[in-house]
Amino acid sequence: MAGKDHYPHISAKLREVLKPHLPASSPEADPSTLSNYEKFSVLHTVLSLDVLFKDKKLAGSISLSLKCLQQTSSIVLDTSYLSIHGISIDDKSVKDYKLKDRMEPLGSALEIRHSLAADDEVTLKIDYETTDRCTALQWLDPQQTNGKKLPYLFSQCEPIHSRSFFPCFDTPSIKSTFSYFLTSPFNTLTSGLLKDKKDSANNVVYHFEQPVPIPSYLVSIASGDITGAAIGPRSTVYSEPSFIDNCQYEFEHDTENFIKTAESIVFPYEWKDYDVLILPSSMPFGGMEHPNCTFATPTLISGDRENIDVIAHELAHSWSGNLVTNCSFEHFWLNEGWTVYLERRIQGAIHGEDFRHFSAIIGWNDLTNSIISMGNSAKRFSTLIQDLKDRTDPDDSFSTVPYEKGFSLLFHIEQTLGGKEAFDPFIKHYFNEYKYKSLDSYQFLDSLYSFYSDKSDLLDTIDWQTWLYEPGLPPKPSFNTKLVDECYTLAAKWVDIIETAPEKLSSKFKSTDIAKFSANQSGVFLDKLCSYEGQNGFTWKNENGKKAIDLMTNIYSKYSVSQNAEVIFRWFRLLLTANITSSYQDLANWLGTVGRMKFVRPSYTMLNKVDRPLALATFEKYEMIYHPICRSMVKKDLGLN
Ligand SMILES: [Zn+2]
Repeated sequence: MAGKDHYPHISAKLREVLKPHLPASSPEADPSTLSNYEKFSVLHTVLSLDVLFKDKKLAGSISLSLKCLQQTSSIVLDTSYLSIHGISIDDKSVKDYKLKDRMEPLGSALEIRHSLAADDEVTLKIDYETTDRCTALQWLDPQQTNGKKLPYLFSQCEPIHSRSFFPCFDTPSIKSTFSYFLTSPFNTLTSGLLKDKKDSANNVVYHFEQPVPIPSYLVSIASGDITGAAIGPRSTVYSEPSFIDNCQYEFEHDTENFIKTAESIVFPYEWKDYDVLILPSSMPFGGMEHPNCTFATPTLISGDRENIDVIAHELAHSWSGNLVTNCSFEHFWLNEGWTVYLERRIQGAIHGEDFRHFSAIIGWNDLTNSIISMGNSAKRFSTLIQDLKDRTDPDDSFSTVPYEKGFSLLFHIEQTLGGKEAFDPFIKHYFNEYKYKSLDSYQFLDSLYSFYSDKSDLLDTIDWQTWLYEPGLPPKPSFNTKLVDECYTLAAKWVDIIETAPEKLSSKFKSTDIAKFSANQSGVFLDKLCSYEGQNGFTWKNENGKKAIDLMTNIYSKYSVSQNAEVIFRWFRLLLTANITSSYQDLANWLGTVGRMKFVRPSYTMLNKVDRPLALATFEKYEMIYHPICRSMVKKDLGLN
């Protein structure tokens, strides 16, 4: 007998495509947790933790208010490298529990024997502390900070590191409201609204509340020499004191404008305040969308307000990801594809439609490069919907694909339906339908077909099999190329002169060629130059290619002195593509100043290709300044495991 049809609105044609994949329950079960989360809802969570800088650990307790949904004989939580000191249920001590053997990469299940019937409500309290093997927390020594005076702590839980921070149902399928009581000697921030601060001995107890239910991966902590400055009526930027003026300058012009624009596209911002914390350089990501307080890399602070798109992205997560959440990291594109889509809608509303398309083309190029660089693993990791059922580490499945293939699909749907105006009502509908919930890709499709029930023929023209399940590049959407054409034309001119009249190089180019380029346009120009390598026999590595690079270094000198990491990185990539040996050490030095994986990983990969001993020596020198996630990924990239 067939089970309940959880997806009644999808068309017969789409159903044929989905048939081998449709799950028995909805949303689909999360394979990246060892917990029995499906038997519970979490009504509220209280985290009470002391930040112990000397021992580099957090110690305290977590209280989970649980409602049982199905009869069970145990409560099974995710943990990873935690030290459990005691457990109670409704204030009665529980002795019958077991921390099971580790099952890589998912950690150790904590099994608490306790019978519950459906609708039972209990409060489970666990006293515990983190250990030195915690993968969610990075403890920086003073010399790893800007100020060099105080230590610093920050967390990064996504995708499955919360379990090494606190015992929990570590799945995006479970959401809870939170109270946090965090005791630290230094200023402390978390994913919530500050209620009050109380002095206690040499410490302060910071009480935060998060009234909107959030999944475990959005919980955060940062503590250190942190100060704040206003960047809008509901926004503050935080950073170490020496950096705060630069941070304020970078964001004060755009933040409120972004929030208002996003509100007009989706619906009013639900979280009250929107703040940004600029972390020390070892932050491995561009940004992390912690509710109320985005954590971001200092590579955004370029002095030109040109990397602000990351803030539009993290802000957009306030709707996609933080309100409407993927039920597991197999459906991560629902978080990231939607967020990139909204980020570009925000940019388009402010800077015009040409800009949205320009940004989409950059994304398409990133997607292309990312799939090429995956090599053999592209077959496995470049599909839109991922398969993590063999307990693959979600960190290994993360790439540009969920972001840019996800964006491209939404853009393609928008275009298929007749453009933005036709798609806009669905945006509001979808985010309203699924806010505070977690969903799978099939529910998204069901919602789409339900909303456009009169246009299912149009939706059926989409090649769903290819978009959802085939590896590699999807069909390329048609973009308006106005803003990239200037960059492509200049790049083509360089290649043409190098090939046909290299003796005329110095007379054909001048510094004003790039004077009007935005940092993003410079990035596109440099990417395009690199992309010629190996095409129709062209190479930067021969005498004429190197001569051209020499000339470019002189007349486009703003690239070699740029403070914008997006530009610096691409400039290095061109130099290394041309085997300019004098640049290898410069790149190695730069790798001591950045920790963002977007730059660190490909930089090591390209340095490794041209000078492996230097790549290894550089990694050995700097590995301890990188975040544990970054360190382990670079190790894999360099074949050091
Ligand atoms: Zn994102």
